[in-house]
Amino acid sequence: MLPSQVNVLIVGAGPAGATTSLFLEKKGIDHLVIDKATFPRDKICGDALSGKVVDIVGKLDMNLLTEIETDADAFMPCYGISFIAPNGKALEIPFRTRVNDHVSAAGFISKRVVFDNFLVNKLKPGRLLQACELVSFEKNEQGYNCQLRYNGGLHQVQTTMLVGAEGERSQVAKKLAGFKKDKNHYCAAVRGYYTGITGCKEGNYIELHFLKEVLPGYLWIFPLPDGQFNVGVGMASNKISKNKVNLNKALEEAISKVPALAERFKNAKPISPMLGWGLPLGSKKWPLSGEHFLLTGDSGSLIDPFTGEGIGNAMKMGMLAANHIERSLQAQKFDAAWNLQYDHAVYNDLWDELKIGRTLQWLTNFPWLFNFVVNKSLKNKTLRDTISCMFDDISMRDQMRSPMFYVRLLIN
Ligand SMILES: Cc1cc2nc3c(=O)[nH]c(=O)nc-3n(C[C@H](O)[C@H](O)[C@H](O)COP(=O)(O)OP(=O)(O)OC[C@H]3O[C@@H](n4cnc5c(N)ncnc54)[C@H](O)[C@@H]3O)c2cc1C
Repeated sequence: MLPSQVNVLIVGAGPAGATTSLFLEKKGIDHLVIDKATFPRDKICGDALSGKVVDIVGKLDMNLLTEIETDADAFMPCYGISFIAPNGKALEIPFRTRVNDHVSAAGFISKRVVFDNFLVNKLKPGRLLQACELVSFEKNEQGYNCQLRYNGGLHQVQTTMLVGAEGERSQVAKKLAGFKKDKNHYCAAVRGYYTGITGCKEGNYIELHFLKEVLPGYLWIFPLPDGQFNVGVGMASNKISKNKVNLNKALEEAISKVPALAERFKNAKPISPMLGWGLPLGSKKWPLSGEHFLLTGDSGSLIDPFTGEGIGNAMKMGMLAANHIERSLQAQKFDAAWNLQYDHAVYNDLWDELKIGRTLQWLTNFPWLFNFVVNKSLKNKTLRDTISCMFDDISMRDQMRSPMFYVRLLIN
């Protein structure tokens, strides 16, 4: 049964919406989550769960992290990352393994059909209405009157706070925050599943191949349980348009013609179609709130422009949204000026990191510079260790934005 009135309506039960709900639950705050899909459902993605995801899951409940660590059929532990420069040389960086004083793999790889279902199954029974779609909404004094399609009929639900967590095609973001797709701050990517890829490094490293044909962007190979792999290619949307790139073709050509990849794909078999989806990047600040509404996850356009990581940021926003909703309910304030505190909390937490991602994305426009840093790192252990630390330490990653970093490399 649909209630006619709720304090908080979360639209979307992907990582952003599910995390908002789980943190609200911890605070004992009543709310409703809806999703137009029925879980388990797929989401086109690289399936890599970064250290940030591990961190937020641990903050939710360390037992959830233990569940992930002990379910090897669903979650592949990942111990490092390989950057393959345009010249074909690989820089292999092991991850650190201590999270929240808990020794764990720093990241995992898990099909989204599995991970999103894992999160949704942790929601309090009755919290989530599946196959329930937000069709439209209208502002009124108390918040929004939302029209939902459910069980073959249209229903009205009044909410005080509307949380847009509907992902890349969010109508809450478009209608209330004026979000418009901007090709300069957008990426497109295709993904498929394979078996039979050989030559992978021990430790289930994720591989990012910065091929010059798809810069700024990369081809990825991420190992999954059961001998499967998530393989895809993503590229900045402005460059796709400018160079008329067909991503499916670029992937096919790379795995059949780039010698190092062709050898590894010799016996590989695609086991799914290649499917595409968009990545709204966090390289431009959008409003994340307004009168009686908040945006979380891809609805708020905060994917890392360099790595393409969006799940961790979506979950971080879910956590911050729940904190803000708690304060709003206590103060009974939901106006745009008050809700700006949420924007500040999100950008205070994530903007420095996103700015670095934007600069690194821009630097990949210069393949020779990428080759130079990788060549130098291969000869210099201190530099390799420094780059490894950059994965944990944002202030160290910031060094890569400084011209002095490259001058120091030049003079050793
Ligand atoms: C090809 C590709 C590869 C990627 N690889 C990675 C990666 O390896 N690691 C990583 O961290 N990030 C990756 N990302 C980014 C990541 O997929 C997103 O950042 C992440 O899914 C955002 O989560 P979300 O909860 O905001 O949205 P979503 O996961 O998209 O969830 C939105 C939910 O809202 C529901 N919904 C939509 N509209 C409505 C409506 N009107 N009514 C009700 N429900 C609705 C949908 O059914 C869906 O369940 C990748 C993205 C792409 C496209």
